[in-house]
Parts: sequence; structure tokens; C-alpha cells
Amino acid sequence: MLVIDSIKACRDAVHALSQMQGRVGFVPTMGALHRGHLSLIEIARKHCDAVVVSIFVNPTQFSPDEDFDAYPRPMDEDLRACSQSGVDLVFAPTAAIMYPQTPRTTIHVTGLSDGLCGRLRAGHFDGVATVVTKLFGIVPAQAAFFGDKDYQQLAVVRQLVRDLNIPIEIVGCPIVREASGLAMSSRNAYLSSEQRTQAASLSCALFQAREQVKAGERCAATLTEAMRRTILEAGVKQIEYMEVVHPDSLVNVESITDSARICLAVRIGSCRLIDNIGVDVS
Ligand code: AMP
Repeated sequence: MLVIDSIKACRDAVHALSQMQGRVGFVPTMGALHRGHLSLIEIARKHCDAVVVSIFVNPTQFSPDEDFDAYPRPMDEDLRACSQSGVDLVFAPTAAIMYPQTPRTTIHVTGLSDGLCGRLRAGHFDGVATVVTKLFGIVPAQAAFFGDKDYQQLAVVRQLVRDLNIPIEIVGCPIVREASGLAMSSRNAYLSSEQRTQAASLSCALFQAREQVKAGERCAATLTEAMRRTILEAGVKQIEYMEVVHPDSLVNVESITDSARICLAVRIGSCRLIDNIGVDVS
């Protein structure tokens, strides 16, 4: 497995992989790899002939009061996990390599970046959209794999690829959960065992909502009210949002008539957790 930090060497190596092996799949990550990340690598390996993973904790998607400094960076373990998962190349640049000067270009995907997490994390999706666009210029892969876990991020990436005619297929991959239902996340490492129990209520509330939809409930407010009760009863104090949205536009829906995405974010202690689920009545 090649480990590269230089932009030119990475681009050349990906071109060489394409020529020698065929279709290249790309999995962008911020490291601290868990089974969620590894599932993306596995799906990429099934779809493609070679797999490239990037590991980069991107400073521009963190606001000053967020956990950029505390974000876990177990690079040796991550490289071992990539190697064991059959990854061909890891691109792991420093911030100085990615941002040698203060950039004057920002990618902003209007609408999709502004609701849900975007409402409370000003500039977050601009940071994401810009770094993903940069990474697509450095890793000329044929397909890129993103988790449904960060559903809004996936919607933003799909849109920017369409709008900017970037020749890459975007593949959304299912959320991997712990046995409790908690969606795997590098940030789960911040949770105490009591907080983990509270955090399990998020998926519980989402699964209950999906069952209610199956049983005929269509009203978004009724669904989110029941979810709120479940989550508060588990001891979670701070719910940032719970919304039922259109799966592509992310615009709020009042009544579910087709497919929809139920998305939520909460704070437990210092940890911010997000989760979501798809529902379909068609
Ligand atoms: P991150 O390292 O948090 O930036 O995540 C890198 C990629 O892994 C993103 O596309 C995430 O959506 C995806 N991912 C993170 N957690 C999960 C999970 N539990 N299941 C599936 N994909 C995930």
C-alpha cells in the first residue's frame, strides 16, 4: 500500500493505478477509522479495481469553537486498517500541503448547505464542499464513496459534482451501526458509557418513526414529536433539530407522500451527534 502526502505524487499514482488496474474508487475520510469507514472501503472494492483513501482532518470545516484540535488522529492504526482492508493508496496530506496559502476560492452549494446542520454550523458545508472539490482534483478517481450517515454532506457533494461537471460517480453507502443502534462515528469516542446509553435513543427514535410511517402515519410533526419524547426520556437534554425532509432537496415536508429522510442532531455533553433514516410510502 502506498502512503503519499504530496499532491503531484498522488495524482500521478492514481493515474498509474487507473492505467494498470482499471476503475479507481475513492473514499475521503478524516481518519479515526471505524467499521463505518471500512464498509465504504469494502463497497469501493466491490465496485472498483483499485481503492484510494484520503485521511485529512480538514480545518476549514470546523468553526473556532469546535473540536478540530481534539479530533482523534490515530494515523498508525488507520494505516494498518487500510492495509488490512486492501486499500491500494492512502493520501494523507498536512494542512500546509492542502492550504499553502489562504485560499481565495470557496465552493458554496446554495440551499442544500443552509438548513439542518448548516443552520447551526455556519460555513461548515462550504469547508466540506471546497475540500471535497480539491480532493477530486488531486485523486482523479472514477467513483467516490460517501456514507448516508452524513446525509446532508452527501447531498451537497452530489450537487456540486453535477453543477461543476466533475467526472466522478458519487455512491451513497448505508449507515453502519453499533449493536445498540448508535450510528458509528469517530466522535463516539468522546462518550461516557452513560452517554452511550442516552445516544442509543437516537436510532431508537428513528426506527420507531419508520415503523409509524409503515403503520400509516404521514404527519411530520406527529413523527418528530414522538421522537422528541423518546430522546428526552432517555436523558438527552439538547436536541438541535429533528426534521422530515425531501431526500434530494432537503426541503422540509409537512406530510410524507413519497420518500423522505428524517434527520436529527443532538448534543450529549461536549459531543454533537447526527443520525437519519429513509422512509418511503410509494
Ligand atoms: P468522516 O471521517 O467522519 O469525515 O467520514 C468519512 C466518510 O465515512 C463519510 O462519507 C461518512 O459519511 C462515512 N461514515 C462515517 N460514519 C459512518 C457510518 N457509521 N456508516 C457509514 N458511513 C459512515
